[in-house]
Amino acid sequence: MKGHPRGAIVFDLHCDAVLAMDGGNDLSSARRSGHFDLVRARRGGLGAIFLAAWIDPRSLPSGSAARTLALLGELRRFIAENPRHVGLALGAGDVARVRGSGRLAVLLSIEGGHALENDLRLLECYAALGVRSLTLTWSNSNDWADASTDPLVTHGGLTVFGRRVVGEMNRLGMVVDLAHVSRDTFYDALLTSRAPVFVTHAGVRALVDHPRNVDDAQLRAIARNGGVVGIAFYPRFLSAGPAEDVGVEHVIEHIDHAVSVAGMDHVALGSDFDGIDCAPRGLEDASRYPAVSDGLRRHGYSETAVRKIMGGNALRVLRAATGR
Ligand SMILES: [Zn+2]
Repeated sequence: MKGHPRGAIVFDLHCDAVLAMDGGNDLSSARRSGHFDLVRARRGGLGAIFLAAWIDPRSLPSGSAARTLALLGELRRFIAENPRHVGLALGAGDVARVRGSGRLAVLLSIEGGHALENDLRLLECYAALGVRSLTLTWSNSNDWADASTDPLVTHGGLTVFGRRVVGEMNRLGMVVDLAHVSRDTFYDALLTSRAPVFVTHAGVRALVDHPRNVDDAQLRAIARNGGVVGIAFYPRFLSAGPAEDVGVEHVIEHIDHAVSVAGMDHVALGSDFDGIDCAPRGLEDASRYPAVSDGLRRHGYSETAVRKIMGGNALRVLRAATGR
């Protein structure tokens, strides 16, 4: 075990730990359950993480904004109460500064475009609260974008309003996240966005035919856009076999396939910790990120390549899309 390459900033693009906070857990100390807390993140050498406010579609039709604000409040309180261990980051410069002071850089995102309640002014409010990425849909399609797992194909991609959301995100310096969206929404968003995008948490379709995974054509499109796909640690995206047989080597296989199609500069990590009901063997929680660096190295990746995949690529997209 060598751990992370020297100078690497390990960056996880998606974590649902806010649900644990909302459930009353104190994430500043080690907890026995779940995946993420500050003690385990430090042990795992984590440098930056997007903590997502996941908006349960049961909050629809009119409670989504209130729920979003409550969860963003929860996340901002967590940051404010742990100033010696974490700092809010609004861009790549902040990540480097916060990490440079030995702390974890926390970035805020929202998962589920229904959080906007179809009002672009809310998007601006969320940006002002520090939100730097929005997943256009969750598992549910909304009034302006189709999801990959909603049986109803409502719009055939993004509506005119959906394209305005993407344009407004570009203007506000928020990274468009295309995890969860349907193929049509994915391509509509790529045609619309003037900045590189994230697919924060997914696997690759060539290895596991799951609707949440991205196919090779999508991987090539991400590369042309300059964006990244964050490989998730969710066993059901990683293998068609039993979840308990899934290990860190499956994550490496998905990274390796994505690299072979999209190239070294377009692959990242998006664990989905605390949003998944089981994690791979060897990647049980946030203390285990070094197993990914070690696995990549065993697979023949150079220190430079490992540094890019573990966080350098994600930082590049963050810098380009936020302009800071
Ligand atoms: Zn998700």
